[in-house]
Amino acid sequence: MTALSIVVPCFNEEACLPLLHQRLTGAARSAVGEDYEILLVNDGSRDGSWPLMQRLSASDPRLVCVDLSRNHGHQLALTAGLDLARGELILIVDADLQDPPELLPDMMRTMGEEGADVVYGVRRSRAGETHFKKATAAAFYRLLSRATDIAIPVDAGDFRLMSRRALDVLLAMPEQARFIRGMVAWIGFRQVPFLYDRAERAAGESKYPLGKMLRFAFDALTGFSSAPLKLASHAGLLLSLGSLLIIFYIAYAFISGQSIQGWTSLMLVVVVLGAVQMFVLAMMGEYIGRLYSQAKQRPLYIVQEVTGAPRQARAGLG
Ligand code: UDP
Ligand code: MG
Repeated sequence: MTALSIVVPCFNEEACLPLLHQRLTGAARSAVGEDYEILLVNDGSRDGSWPLMQRLSASDPRLVCVDLSRNHGHQLALTAGLDLARGELILIVDADLQDPPELLPDMMRTMGEEGADVVYGVRRSRAGETHFKKATAAAFYRLLSRATDIAIPVDAGDFRLMSRRALDVLLAMPEQARFIRGMVAWIGFRQVPFLYDRAERAAGESKYPLGKMLRFAFDALTGFSSAPLKLASHAGLLLSLGSLLIIFYIAYAFISGQSIQGWTSLMLVVVVLGAVQMFVLAMMGEYIGRLYSQAKQRPLYIVQEVTGAPRQARAGLG
């Protein structure tokens, strides 16, 4: 057993890697001496990340680099790294150094003082991110916390320190569409926040374009809440009330001998009904899609190569 594992998912992060390696090494040494490992997971990068990882790992026995067979996405790349981690404590960071690894000793102290199993980073501020990103992220975390039953912390990312027993519970959860920060919240044990200022990206650009962000948000919502499904019953109730009013109106007009015209109102009703039905169908589709992908039981990710021969045995399929 190692005292500490640091797990980092990397997608096209060539420009960040040398500094990342250096700062992680510094932070780990100051926290636990030499008893640590750093796991970099190459999530099917299309730049020179993998050759660079191989070179770095040739000169550092504490560096384990994992090459996935293709791009599996942030959350699955992270899962691959967590599966291979052997530490008693596990630190998750992003490759772009937005989460300062130098906070590790403080996080460990907080963990000890509070007797916590999870110390999760909460962003007090976010430097160098667009207004759009900040606004959508803020709205997303608030919507999520209203829609779910478990308390998923607001403004917390995956930057966190976990105990071995919390990680083992997390890894026992077999879901395919993973929203790890929510899954960790679900586990329970004692979890305490740790406020920090999020730095700018060290280099390169965000690997989360709008499409991926939306997918991520949907996975979170459908994975942790059935509120969207209940929208159907609310919409149904509302529309029934509306139709009752219209029926009264028609009856009144009929009795008082008026003729009712109205292409506009007719179209309005048709379009509104159609839209509501499609929306509800789409929501159900999201959940069915989840069921379908879960039913296939495919491995979560596929490892192509792991640097460091003795460790190769640890990596199998998924
Ligand atoms: N990432 C990944 N696979 C992907 C997209 C992102 O492993 O398909 C990694 C990325 O390299 C980084 C982390 O996920 O370490 C967070 O991505 P990023 O910093 O681009 O997201 P942002 O901070 O802009 O939300
Ligand atoms: Mg980032």
